[in-house]
Amino acid sequence: MENNKNDKTRRGFLDKGVKVGALAALGSLAFAKVFGIRVAEDSTEGEMMELMSPDGTLVQVPASEVQGVEEKKTDYDPREGFVNRKFVMVVDLAKCRNAKKCQSSCNKNHYITGENAWIKIYKMQETEKTAPYWQPTLCQHCDQPPCVKVCPVDATFKRRDGIVLIDNNRCIGCRFCMAACPYSVRIFNWSDPWQGETAENKEYDPDHAGVPSQQGTVDKCDFCPHMIDKGELPHCVSACPNDVFSFGDMYEDTVTNGSGQSFQLSKLLKDRAGYRLMESLGTEPSVYYLPPSNRVVDFEEGLSNYTEFESVEKPGTP
Ligand code: SF4
Repeated sequence: MENNKNDKTRRGFLDKGVKVGALAALGSLAFAKVFGIRVAEDSTEGEMMELMSPDGTLVQVPASEVQGVEEKKTDYDPREGFVNRKFVMVVDLAKCRNAKKCQSSCNKNHYITGENAWIKIYKMQETEKTAPYWQPTLCQHCDQPPCVKVCPVDATFKRRDGIVLIDNNRCIGCRFCMAACPYSVRIFNWSDPWQGETAENKEYDPDHAGVPSQQGTVDKCDFCPHMIDKGELPHCVSACPNDVFSFGDMYEDTVTNGSGQSFQLSKLLKDRAGYRLMESLGTEPSVYYLPPSNRVVDFEEGLSNYTEFESVEKPGTP
């Protein structure tokens, strides 16, 4: 597939309206998946379309043999999520050079100010004799989330699409979830997180978590449901200049990076020895890491001209 940062159209990776429904005439392609390609219902004779076969190979098939099935978005409930989806992220540590564009884009699009960033990039080094590497760390959207189990008011919850969210209107600020999270990815709004006029005037929506943030409540990465809803990738995935992040649907066994390249998830994890953080705890994260072996970029000691947090001037501040 072509690398094209600006090609937003082929990122209909979650094209909610289309799935392959019947491929009876296609033999071994019976379980092939449409990925980012809209089925042309009025396809002309001889027109071909591209499908991904179960082994991850892209094949051309006659469009007339593919039947599209409409998957209607009815009664969407932010606490339930998207039907028949299980979102997953892959973070390729061999490509991370601490550019922090993921963090700045996340901050900007969630109006995050101060030190409340949802993505932290840690410098990791196992021993003095081994090479350091950067590890972007965000909510792991655990399948068995300890944070959800301890919340006394059901403010934080896991949806059927695997996304763990917080309803800030319910959050009472007890911070039990912060203590329970083994990945330390939750932040607490100790003071009024003034996010500027644009954010403050928005109506609160759990699907666009943290906008506007509320003093005395907890925030964290939300996997950008507001972008998924548009068929686009989360902000961090699109913003990374090194394609560190890939995002997709586990049921489709496919993830896509910011350049629009798609990979077969199971093969990628096997070939690159993917792993999850603190696997032994049984939290079953939805975020996988690829080890920083055969590094694609050199390790840098940070970026000197980088301003880590964009600030929004609060009214009344001199
Ligand atoms: Fe909860 Fe932490 Fe897991 Fe995110 S990483 S789902 S905050 S336990």
